[in-house]
Amino acid sequence: MSTPLKIARLNANQSDFAQHLDTLLAWEGVSDKAVNDRVEEIIAAVRSSGDAALVEYTERFDGLSASNMADLTLDRARLELALERITPAQRSALEVAAERVRSYHEHQRQDSWRYTEADGTVLGQKITPLDRVGLYVPGGKASYPSSVLMNAIPAKVAGVPEVVMVVPTPRGEINELVLAAACLAGVDHVFTIGGAQAVAALAYGTETVPQVDKIVGPGNIYVATAKRAVFGQVGIDMIAGPSEILVVCDGQTDPDWIAMDLFSQAEHDEDAQSILLSPDADFLDAVEASLNRLLGELERDAIVRVSLENRGALIKVDDLEQACVLANRIAPEHLELSVADPEALLPQIRHAGAIFMGRFTPEALGDYCAGPNHVLPTSGTARFSSPLGVYDFQKRSSIIFCSPEGASELGKTASVLARGESLTAHARSAEYRIKN
Ligand code: NAD
Repeated sequence: MSTPLKIARLNANQSDFAQHLDTLLAWEGVSDKAVNDRVEEIIAAVRSSGDAALVEYTERFDGLSASNMADLTLDRARLELALERITPAQRSALEVAAERVRSYHEHQRQDSWRYTEADGTVLGQKITPLDRVGLYVPGGKASYPSSVLMNAIPAKVAGVPEVVMVVPTPRGEINELVLAAACLAGVDHVFTIGGAQAVAALAYGTETVPQVDKIVGPGNIYVATAKRAVFGQVGIDMIAGPSEILVVCDGQTDPDWIAMDLFSQAEHDEDAQSILLSPDADFLDAVEASLNRLLGELERDAIVRVSLENRGALIKVDDLEQACVLANRIAPEHLELSVADPEALLPQIRHAGAIFMGRFTPEALGDYCAGPNHVLPTSGTARFSSPLGVYDFQKRSSIIFCSPEGASELGKTASVLARGESLTAHARSAEYRIKN
């Protein structure tokens, strides 16, 4: 029998609970001087040497030698070939997921709007999709076809004409599922480059890689640091921290199910966080027993153990109301309400990236195929941000049309305010349009 799992057991009413919670939630974020310096150097090299730098870094970091960028470019025909190569079951699963993600995101599309005032002045907002978007798909240690769907489909639903994908292929090992997902999602160009050099290429463009307007998608510390560095030159989606799940359970769900839901987050990486809140102390004991019994059955049990022992917790609360207060304090990326009546708790939840309602809605379904996006705010940022969506690929321009009567009326107000700011040209520009 393996060593018992040392997961924190806490009570929300213990005197030092707030302190424990702060320690549990603390996350350093992306800040490492050595990585920063290296990334700055890579970005500068890509800006000055373009394709040549990409070829060189790809050989150095991914062990893939190429004579030029043509060797690191995949066309649509190659993506279609990937779709032929995967198994029928994989193809059908990808198609189901892609269709569900597409139809969910169709609901998010915003339209332009305008209204007309009594004097004929028209005000409104024009919605325009971004021209070109870059999608980073991680490929260093594992491959994520689901991330391709979740990032590319909202862009296409928004109407982005060109989606450029970059994905590192260490030693040239190409993941056919990733390419098949790119094919189904409508990705236009794929380059097999990764890391900070790929982010720099998307931000500044090279002879081969087109410059984009926004870069989305997760990645390791080099990717995250590079995205932060190029922000301003291009838009970015977010800097994601480690993944998190908070489960609120009334004690009536099968403890094995809850244990597996906690594992499903912990298996992402050692820094991932899984926390359970329940008013039922016996249930917390039962889940702890399930965790210990089931851990050895996982392929990634070593990662899960580190994650749960460093950042996991089973917390006893007084009642579900107290659980909701704590959920808002934690503002988790994923919140599971594994209770009989999740609708009754929903009004109390203010901060969560995605809310999974009821015992039959594990986060894993949302990760792959329910439809909503799995790119979600982490590290408490659900307090002020939202899941990746179509709105991230649409921008808004204000529309203002003044009739002569409208200009005359507004001119009086503008003139007073402009003179108050000593901006004479502003004032006179407005005053010219005032009718005598
Ligand atoms: P990656 O594609 O992010 O990084 C690989 C690249 O890192 C390489 O191509 C190389 O260019 C660069 N690199 C590696 N070592 C370097 C070094 N010493 N110096 C300079 N550059 C170096 O792939 P990964 O490493 O597998 O990381 C993927 C990350 O994305 C993981 O942390 C994973 O948890 C995360 N992820 C998050 C989500 C999400 O939705 N939040 C989804 C999928 C993956």
